[in-house]
Amino acid sequence: MNPLLPVGAVLAACAGAVSYAAVHPRAQIFGPTVCRTNSPRKLAITFDDGPNPALTAQLLDLLERYDARATFFVIGRYTRECPELVKETAQRGHLVANHTLTHPNLFWLAPSIIRDELRQTQDSIIAATGFAPKWFRPPYGYRNPWVVKTAAQLGMRTAMWSVIPGDWKPRPVEKLIAKIQPIAAHARGNSESSYAGGDVLCLHDGGHRALNADRTRTLRALEYWLPRWRDAGLEFVTIEEAVSTPAT
Ligand SMILES: [Zn+2]
Repeated sequence: MNPLLPVGAVLAACAGAVSYAAVHPRAQIFGPTVCRTNSPRKLAITFDDGPNPALTAQLLDLLERYDARATFFVIGRYTRECPELVKETAQRGHLVANHTLTHPNLFWLAPSIIRDELRQTQDSIIAATGFAPKWFRPPYGYRNPWVVKTAAQLGMRTAMWSVIPGDWKPRPVEKLIAKIQPIAAHARGNSESSYAGGDVLCLHDGGHRALNADRTRTLRALEYWLPRWRDAGLEFVTIEEAVSTPAT
């Protein structure tokens, strides 16, 4: 028998476990995260990678039409460039949250660099809105043993998601609309999903590579779903509201 085989199998298993802990949205191995709301009636819509001068203002108007509160995980360097847009987002009742300064993959970074990415973003949000963010989402969902802990030390809970339809992919809006279908099915109680609680939907109002990313499809998909979700009895809440108010 080749003595290296079992070692290889163990290494493969370890690598699998580490990648599960680092990237699976519901994995809690690297610290506690929130990936659902406390009620099937409450939907937390979240947006990453903004602010985006090409889209965020239109998105705020659309959300207002449906009395929807959402959570915006903003990039710190964009917040420095567009503080007024971030201020408006907060003033219109949404929660502004931390998505790092430069959008790196935190898995590979040392604790001091992670802390710096999060702290500088906090400072940019405080400068724009007057409030320190209480929520954080790691870029690409990647965590390591220090990410959730560092966010907690800075007063932030870490949010992941239950539904991520890949709205950054260049494909027809009909495909994106279909990918978001599980939320309505879950709200009607006829999805295969067995978990109690409501969904946390991860969408993108910006792009991490540059400002002014085209996210028209995300807007169109929401124009389709928001009236249908409202008719299905869903309430659109921030992630804070979704976990801190009693379940209804
Ligand atoms: Zn992102």
